[in-house]
Amino acid sequence: MILLNPGPVTLSQRVRAALAQPDLCHREPEFGDLQQRLRTGLLGVYALDPACWSSVLLTGSGTAAVEAMLSSLVPPDVRLITLENGVYGERLTRIARAHRIDVTPVHVAWEQMPDLTALDDVLAGLEGPVAVAAVHHETTTGRLNDMAAVGAVCRQHGVNLLVDAVSSFGGEAIGFEDWPVAAVAATGNKCLHGVPGAAFVIARRQVLDLTPSPGRSLYLDLAGHARAQDAGGTAFTPGIPAFYALEEALAELAEQGGWPARHRRYRALAEQLRAALAAQGVMPYIPTDDASVVLRSYHLPPGLDYATLHDELKAAGFVIYAGQGGLAEILFRVSTMGAIEDGDMQRLIAAFERILADRTGSGQQSQEGT
Ligand SMILES: *Cc1c(COP(=O)(O)O)cnc(C)c1O
Repeated sequence: MILLNPGPVTLSQRVRAALAQPDLCHREPEFGDLQQRLRTGLLGVYALDPACWSSVLLTGSGTAAVEAMLSSLVPPDVRLITLENGVYGERLTRIARAHRIDVTPVHVAWEQMPDLTALDDVLAGLEGPVAVAAVHHETTTGRLNDMAAVGAVCRQHGVNLLVDAVSSFGGEAIGFEDWPVAAVAATGNKCLHGVPGAAFVIARRQVLDLTPSPGRSLYLDLAGHARAQDAGGTAFTPGIPAFYALEEALAELAEQGGWPARHRRYRALAEQLRAALAAQGVMPYIPTDDASVVLRSYHLPPGLDYATLHDELKAAGFVIYAGQGGLAEILFRVSTMGAIEDGDMQRLIAAFERILADRTGSGQQSQEGT
């Protein structure tokens, strides 16, 4: 089965094999070495200086990393502004509220780009310390939010950015130094091609050094984890098989040419599918220029509901992804993350062509273009 959902991804054989490495106790030096190689490797993906940045490993899904970042790095006297244009932006607000953080959402509809004028107005009208949290790649629609523009507004107000890069880390450019980034949260099982269970936050050491431990959460206490990991240990029992997989996945990424090569690969696959679908009258939900290379969303064509499309593609060996909330009725999503071969894409396109032709041929009313 080829997974075209936005994580977990189709594994390469070498990453799958890495899961079966020896049993390991996390209080032994071998684990400390593995952890240190991972922390160094994660900084290496974006060539970050270990003197300035710290990568903190967590056992959990991507949301654990986002929650650790927000609950730890927004102190009690700081107001958080969240940018919402999809499920994951709205999740930032829900996480903040769960931790009793004073939060002001700047909301737009899911198909729109973040409202930077509103962000500017909100920042201008607030007194006291503020942080901004935003999603880089909003997986709800596949929109790649313009973080350079968001960052420019933040910079004008002297405000730091907390970034959910869960579905972009390893596949898209991240301006660690250009946007005023305080921290980025991500996971091993999306663009890095590992398995679920290993997540991480990359934070400025300056920011971590000023962060109290524990803060609002014990398990997700980022500063506590950072201190334990800097000392070569770990606070709790880590998901070691997921760590093994991540190490192999990072080695594979480096051998393949790093994130820029992965970005080009994703783009080639996404554009191949976009062109093939366009030839069948199936159009992208948001403009291609605004879309990530990681995931694209498409209008469901008239006469074809999501369940039928999903089931027929699954029978052909592919798992696609539904829209969320109100978008469930109108779009479908296809991610090109994971170990996807050229032949897989050719078979996927052939399956789409057959399903779309059957729909027209079986007397269903095809109304493309209306
Ligand atoms: C996948 C994803 C998450 C985290 O989801 P988990 O199910 O917790 O791994 C967070 N933010 C974005 C933008 C995502 O795509």
